[in-house]
Amino acid sequence: MSRTQTHDLTTHETDLDQLDRDELAAAAEQYARTVQESYADSPIAGVELARIDWKASSQLCRSGAYCETELDDPPAHTIVLSYPGYRAWGWDRMTGVIRHELAHVVVNEQFGDEVRPHGPEFRDVAESLDAPMRGEEPIPYRYKLFCRRCGSMTDGLYQASDRTRNPWNYTSPCCQAPLQVETGEGWR
Ligand SMILES: [Zn+2]
Ligand SMILES: [Zn+2]
Repeated sequence: MSRTQTHDLTTHETDLDQLDRDELAAAAEQYARTVQESYADSPIAGVELARIDWKASSQLCRSGAYCETELDDPPAHTIVLSYPGYRAWGWDRMTGVIRHELAHVVVNEQFGDEVRPHGPEFRDVAESLDAPMRGEEPIPYRYKLFCRRCGSMTDGLYQASDRTRNPWNYTSPCCQAPLQVETGEGWR
């Protein structure tokens, strides 16, 4: 995992792969400003970044992030980043997710809910930001629980718990056999 700080945040002393939740939200807000400067030809340049509220959530695991827009005048956006996603993927990959969400901001402001979330309008804006088309894929599990008898996966978890520490004390729904645990890929 690269630790080079290519995005010129003012948090020069901070390791960008070791941020806590609040720091992640702050780093994303700061990164959005550098995106606006670096992609001056993209429609992101015309967006008032102060209208975006940045959050990081420990609960959000079904996707890497999402953007909610209230179509008031002016519109207001909330971008929620998955903290488990950040832990799984690291900062560099999250910057792609952040640009993807900024593309949603642009499209939501220009078209409201009249277009599909990842339709052609979105594709154009995402391309102008070098943003991945997929920003909402599920986070890989940190722990996977398997049935010791038949081997089927019974559950996936993002955090350690008694089930991941003492899986043999729990029984599988399929065979009523003890569980075993594997640590998922992609986590450091
Ligand atoms: Zn999206
Ligand atoms: Zn089984």
